[in-house]
Parts: sequence; structure tokens; C-alpha cells
Amino acid sequence: MCIIKSDDIFQRDRSVIAPGQHLLYFPIVVDSVKDDIVIDCDGKSYIDFLSSASSLNLGGSNPIVRNAIEEQLMKCVHYCTCYSLNMPMVEYAERLISIYPGSIDASVFFTLSGSSASDMAFYLAKAYTKRKYIISFKGSYHGNTYASSNLSDMDGEEFPKMQDVYHFKYYYEEDCIEKENYVDEIEEFFANGISLDDVAAIFIEAVQGDGGLHCARRNFILQLYCLCKKHGILFICDEVQQGFFRSGYWFSIEHYGVVPDGIIMGKSLGAGFPLGAFVARKEIMQSLSSTVSASTIGGYQLACAAGIAQFDYMSQRSFRIMLQDKSKLFFSLSKELISKKRCNLKLSLSGMGFSYGIHVFDQNNNKDRFSAFKIAFRCYETGLLLISVSENVIRLQPPFSISQENLVKGFELLERAICDIESGYISDSMLYFYENRYPRTGKHCLGDFQ
Ligand code: PMP
Repeated sequence: MCIIKSDDIFQRDRSVIAPGQHLLYFPIVVDSVKDDIVIDCDGKSYIDFLSSASSLNLGGSNPIVRNAIEEQLMKCVHYCTCYSLNMPMVEYAERLISIYPGSIDASVFFTLSGSSASDMAFYLAKAYTKRKYIISFKGSYHGNTYASSNLSDMDGEEFPKMQDVYHFKYYYEEDCIEKENYVDEIEEFFANGISLDDVAAIFIEAVQGDGGLHCARRNFILQLYCLCKKHGILFICDEVQQGFFRSGYWFSIEHYGVVPDGIIMGKSLGAGFPLGAFVARKEIMQSLSSTVSASTIGGYQLACAAGIAQFDYMSQRSFRIMLQDKSKLFFSLSKELISKKRCNLKLSLSGMGFSYGIHVFDQNNNKDRFSAFKIAFRCYETGLLLISVSENVIRLQPPFSISQENLVKGFELLERAICDIESGYISDSMLYFYENRYPRTGKHCLGDFQ
């Protein structure tokens, strides 16, 4: 009997891996990644529209990054950054500071993930301002650790809750809410008892990633920024997902022309290796003692060496031109997809750069999370890797290295999947992947299908 390897590993995974480790859309078992192609352990190829959740922006096998990794590997993977210094860490920090918007006097705190970088930003903001409250937004995601999960707009009861983080409405381009004052709810809330002068920081994604690829309204960002300046509140941007050219610039906040007090980085920062960073004004960084904040290998040699190679590649003019050209094609293919006449579904588009969301609605304009989930599953079956976020949004984030041919082919597969779902080709039985998720509450777990 021929056992398909993926099936076997899927069963073994179920018996030894904690259920909360995965958030599965389909049972892919990844074996290798070559540029824009992911290959599973049965040898099946998929065009990559996921980029390892945007943590492989240059794709799986950039030769410049690979050479740097090989060279560093011969020297050392890491040596505890807590009790020693190392050159790649310093050199990468120098580079990151050089691209900080507004060229402010900044320094870098390296961590091992986006979540822990969010935590560090949270602790430093509180320690620096000596203030209690934090403002974050509905639909945001900042991580799965204690502070970062509280910064996130999480529903589940599983996470221990902090009392001093408040989530307000996030105004984005497509929600069609035109207002004179986008910060009035915040001002009203803090007018009763607690004051805006007790707020340490505002945490915001200029483009919400897991929240549905929503670009914040320009005036919303500008008014929040003014509010921060008026009340001495730190303005901290989470660029974990949109940073490193997902939005077309190093950081998505650059589209708004404001200079944040701190930026949280992760995912592609390590060019494939676990690495996070909080980069902020120097004086903020001086407010925690290292006995509290130092970590064993945050900013380790291998990840920084890979990051430096990626950074230098992305700094080249030829990379920017290549990305601009591909972004134009990506945008026009996305536009074409949503403008096709359809019988059952309505689609709309949000995002920017190389990061778009296709929003799926039914005929009555209700968010159609069943169909979005099924489309992702059907794409997987036909050889395209993507997922849906925020209930009904299909996230499109291919690696920048994707060939023009595979970009076009990926959209053809997506179009085919949408047609298959509309014609009822995919039964509800595939929703067992959704139903087997754990925990089943939480906005970022898509909500319940029941
Ligand atoms: N912030 C944002 C905006 C993210 O998208 C994510 C991951 N989806 C995180 C923080 C957390 O990063 P990580 O999972 O690497 O800890």
C-alpha cells in the first residue's frame, strides 16, 4: 500500500504536537522552498503567495543571503549575546538605524520574534514614560506573548488579560467613514477619570496585516500623531508584517510622512531566521536595566548576518526598480480579479505595495468567511499557497522573487478556485480544518463557523 507521506506526518503531528501550535487551512507538510515555489514532502509544488507569512520576503533561496549564511555558519551560529558582543549584530543595528524614518538618533534592541519585540516596546514605553495606559486598535495583531497578546485585539478567554490596554476603532481607507475628528472617541474616553497624560504609548500598524490588509486613513494617522505630540504619548508602529518592502517602502508608516518614536520589527528582519527588533529613540532605550531585558541569544550572529545580506540587497536601486515593476503587475492582476463579473460572490481589494487582501462577500454584502476559507483550500489543492485572515480576507503576499510567469499563473489558479467555490464544486466537508483548530475562539482564529 502506498502511504502518502503528508498523510502520515499529519497523523503523527496530531499525536505529538500541541494543538495550539498550528492554525491550519490545509494539511501541507513543507519539505523545501525554492524562490517562489514551495514543495511538500510528497513532491507536489505550490506557487507561493504566502512567503512563510511574510517572513521570507526574498523567497526561499536568495543566493546572496545564502552565501552570507554559509559564511557565518563556518564561524558560529550564535554565542550568547547577553554576555558578549558580536560584529554582525552591531553592523545590522547600524544599518537599521540608517533607514529609520526622519533619521532620528535611535538604537536597537534585538529579540527573537515579532511578539517579543512588541513586548519589549511595551515594557520600554511604560518604563520611559512612567505612565500606566496603552492605546491599541480593534483588528490589530501584535503577537502571542503576554504583553503583545494584550496589545492585540484578541477575543479568547485563554490569555491572561491586562487592565490598562484599551482598544479603539481603527479607521481605514475602505470603511468609507469620513470624519473631521478621528480621535474623538479616544479623547472622550480619557476625559472621564483617567487622562491622556497617563497614556504611555499608542501602538499601531499603519497597514493592519492579520486584521485584513487595511491601510489606515491618512487623517486618522496624522491626528493620532498630533494627539501623541500634545500629550507626550509615544507613537509606536508595528512593522513586523508590512516592514521590509511589503508596502513598497522599508516601512509602511513612511507612506504617511510621520516619524514614530519606535518601530517594532520581525518576520523578514532575519531573512528567514528568527529575529525581532525594537528600534526607538535612544533615550527610550535607556529606561530598562539589562538585568531585566537582556536575552540569551537575541541578535545572534547567524540571523544578523542573513539580515545584513538581505538589507544590502534591498538597498540596491535594481531591487527597487524590480519591485516597482512587479508591484504594478501584481496590482493590475488583483484589480482584474476583483472586477470580473461573478454570480454569487462579491470581491473587493485593499492593501498596497506587494501586500493585498481580497475581501469576499456574499450577494447580501455579508462577510463570507466560509467561501474565503474554501478558496484558500481549493488553491492549495490546485497548487497555490495562500491563506485567509480576518474572517473573509484572502491575503496575497508573494515573495518579491516571484517570476512574472508564476505571478500570472497564481492569479489564474486563484480565479479558478473562486469559480469552483461559486459553482459549489467544493463541499463543506473541507471545513474540518477549520473545525479542528484550537482554540476556536478569538478574532484572529477567524471566529466560529457554527
Ligand atoms: N506584529 C504583527 C503586525 C504581525 O503580523 C505578527 C505576526 N503575524 C506579529 C507582530 C508577531 O510576530 P511573531 O509571530 O513572529 O512573533
